[in-house]
Amino acid sequence: MHYATAVDIIAIRFACCDRYYPCHACHEEAEPHPVVLRPRAEWDAPGILCGACGTELSVTAYRASESCPACSADFNPRCRLHWDRYFEQ
Ligand SMILES: [Zn+2]
Ligand SMILES: [Zn+2]
Ligand SMILES: [Zn+2]
Repeated sequence: MHYATAVDIIAIRFACCDRYYPCHACHEEAEPHPVVLRPRAEWDAPGILCGACGTELSVTAYRASESCPACSADFNPRCRLHWDRYFEQ
């Protein structure tokens, strides 16, 4: 685990392999290919998994929330600093 504080509860579905990983470094260790950023056109599809309740959120819903809409678990606000590693800008 790379970002393993209590608020690091989500996993991100990577567009390249369609698998969930908690962070880009986990993806890098497990996959032989480079990360493909999720295109803006796919932001409304499920792309974020809340590890606290198992709900899948769209990227759009995740980016608009500071906590999980289903279970109110807080998201790590510092993840916003790394969005450019996951989502097309
Ligand atoms: Zn991948
Ligand atoms: Zn990681
Ligand atoms: Zn949740």
